[in-house]
Amino acid sequence: MTNPYRKRRGPWIDLLLISSIGFLGAIIVYLTVLSDNPIFPPKEETAAEDNFSTISEEQSIFPGVKIVTDISNDEKMPYAIQYPLTEYENFNEAVTTYIEESKDYYISMMRLQQNLKELTGELNISLETFEHDHYYSFVLTNKTILNAEEQQTTIETFLIDNETGELFDIRTLLNEDLKSLETFATHVQSELLKKGAYKDYILKEELAYATQPKWRLFKRFALKEDSLIIYFNEGEVTEPEAGLPTVEMSLSFINPLLASDFQIAMQAGETILPKNDNDPSKKRIALTFDDGPHPEVTKQILALLKKYNAKATFFMLGSRVQYYPGLAREVREAGHEIGNHTWTHPVLTKMSAAAIQKEYESTEQAIVNAIGENSTVFRPPYGAINDSVRKLIPCKTVNWTIDTLDWKHRDPEKLLPKLKEGLHNNAIVLMHDIHQSTADGLEPVLAYLQDEGYEFLTITDILGYH
Ligand code: ZN
Repeated sequence: MTNPYRKRRGPWIDLLLISSIGFLGAIIVYLTVLSDNPIFPPKEETAAEDNFSTISEEQSIFPGVKIVTDISNDEKMPYAIQYPLTEYENFNEAVTTYIEESKDYYISMMRLQQNLKELTGELNISLETFEHDHYYSFVLTNKTILNAEEQQTTIETFLIDNETGELFDIRTLLNEDLKSLETFATHVQSELLKKGAYKDYILKEELAYATQPKWRLFKRFALKEDSLIIYFNEGEVTEPEAGLPTVEMSLSFINPLLASDFQIAMQAGETILPKNDNDPSKKRIALTFDDGPHPEVTKQILALLKKYNAKATFFMLGSRVQYYPGLAREVREAGHEIGNHTWTHPVLTKMSAAAIQKEYESTEQAIVNAIGENSTVFRPPYGAINDSVRKLIPCKTVNWTIDTLDWKHRDPEKLLPKLKEGLHNNAIVLMHDIHQSTADGLEPVLAYLQDEGYEFLTITDILGYH
């Protein structure tokens, strides 16, 4: 028997199939068009280093920010890197310099192990972006794996005011206030100690070091809409197993410490209390040494400071740092502070703005070349300063409160009596590490101050008590 309905149903099914294929096709076309989101225009290849790597640039959802993706599938040294670019040259330069350095390090280390049978290296730099008003924080997580034994993860942050193009840092955030920094640093330390996840991994000495109230120690952070995250590297304050420690705090909690630009509308709630550590019985002094470094005298002074466990500040001349970069590095590595004291030691108040800037900048360059970081304070030669000079110098300018006149009497016997004449708490003492007589007379000074119970601080540290 034949079913009379079967023949009739045939064309129906065909029609149904054809129309559903057509419908699905339309959906696919529609989705393809939709996914071609105007925020993400199609990738364009801008460069190719070799057969393996592709670099692409695309607009991000953050206005003015482009994301660069650089990937190499070279199986001997694969990498995947992501980083941001903005409309601002200074920012782009800072980021690309960091990226190039990370890449160069990885590639050169991988080349060294080319003869190994099994290469297991990988470089991965990933990007996270946070927005707070017109401030962007870019957090780069850099995972460098050289082989099974050698690998490390580090964090680098780049912070920009996207309205002005200026980079900002923790100084900007805390309004350059050292008291605020102290309170802030203490809070970060106690938060790390409190967190259960890090409890068994805390490295006590490292943590105490990394959370001292020093601007340079809080370089890595991100500003979110209503909180702040501080980052530490693997192994920096905890055992490496604990990963990358972070401390996040709400902006409302630290509101009293923030520069007005970063303060947020406050609701009632708990806020941090400024640290009250002005123990009047505590004695502090800052020893400073100008006009060096000197290959003999500075070395002798360093040895004496070490003997008395004293920290000091060295205001160096760029023209001398240029000749003795290793010495400058030694000073810094011993934990002393390095200040900028110009290149040629001129009376700045008699100079043009351009000449003053050149004195400062060239010396900064020499210092950066020597120690890998900028100076933190400035002292004008002869103490000669006025408002127009001050405006041209981008960091704190600091003179002294006691002049030992070591440059004049050149007599080791007179160093201590001169200091005693003017001695007071939180004093800043002027000496010079280019005179042998100063090195010769320094030990009695250190011994006396130590007996009197003085703590020896750097300039930046003592300014917190001024
Ligand atoms: Zn000087």
